[in-house]
Amino acid sequence: MALKSNHSRIVILCVLLLVILFLHYFTLHDLEFHHAIYRTLFYLPLVLGSFWFGLKGAAGVSISVILFYLPYATLQWQGLQSDFEVILEGGLYVFIALILGYLAEKERKEQAAMRRVEKLAAIGKAVSEIAHDMKTPLMTIGGFSRQVERNLNAKSLDQKKLKIIVSETSRLESMVREMLDFGKPLVLNRTEIQLNDIAQDCVTIAEPEAREAGIRLELQTDPSLPPITLDRSRVKQVLLNLIVNAIQASPPGEEVIIRTNMRKDSMRVEVSDRGHGISEDGEERVFEPFFTTKRNGTGLGLSIVKQIVEAHGGEISFSRNSTKGVTFRVSLPFNQQSAR
Ligand code: ADP
Repeated sequence: MALKSNHSRIVILCVLLLVILFLHYFTLHDLEFHHAIYRTLFYLPLVLGSFWFGLKGAAGVSISVILFYLPYATLQWQGLQSDFEVILEGGLYVFIALILGYLAEKERKEQAAMRRVEKLAAIGKAVSEIAHDMKTPLMTIGGFSRQVERNLNAKSLDQKKLKIIVSETSRLESMVREMLDFGKPLVLNRTEIQLNDIAQDCVTIAEPEAREAGIRLELQTDPSLPPITLDRSRVKQVLLNLIVNAIQASPPGEEVIIRTNMRKDSMRVEVSDRGHGISEDGEERVFEPFFTTKRNGTGLGLSIVKQIVEAHGGEISFSRNSTKGVTFRVSLPFNQQSAR
């Protein structure tokens, strides 16, 4: 749909340019007043191009105008002095094109960011309402089935079925916890911490899951890291999420490396794996809520991780490794400019 409307916009721009150029080429050059009006008409496709396509549109229109108007201007060239006004007008035209394009693009980005925030807030509200309603019946099912499991004869045939009920209920409970977490406003409880200690804790916690999946966890800490003021449990949640994702993406026998290091104004922690990597579609969407490629995933992990990192005034990004897998990077600034 968007492609179709972009297509018709390009057609409109081309038609406008052609009409204006036609007027120039087929009007006697002596009719200066007419030509001055036609030159002003060039602003029409320029404004439209900038608003529809941002900087690219502005550049495209102004280059086309210069290219196609140049033969006409050369034909009628009367010397630098008499055509100085036209040259000045051309320069002004390009200058306005760049400003318009830049402003239109900035506005579009700001609006997209605002829409994203509004969308996230609406999704968060809906998710937490659903999760809230699911919490009580789930707790009842989980609680009773665990009780029955304990009381049931270990050799009973139903014991196996009940084990599945209990483990599936636990999985649902952790999904509901994640959904509730997603909907809750983030309140940070900052204390002075050592990032290396948190990384070590997370590796210890993730070790059993890694062992079961046949993955080796390697921790490479930078001993020169000074203490930093962060929300300990939230940062732990971020790192654990990245490590668990890395384990789940890796085939048995591979290694996941967790590195901490110092940057100029921030500390960085990286989680690097040699797993299946992220598809092209996924690269755009991994931080979107509910984007998941896992059978049992909620797709909320990375969007919560992003919220936490940004609440600390930090940044999260990822890149493909040159050989295999991906590396997620979290930067946490020393001077945290955040509202929370
Ligand atoms: P979930 O783990 O529930 O799927 P996440 O938000 O944590 O939710 O992750 C979203 C998706 O991002 C995953 O389903 C997966 O496709 C992709 N992803 C995250 N981390 C990695 C990784 N290290 N390697 C490959 N894909 C990843």
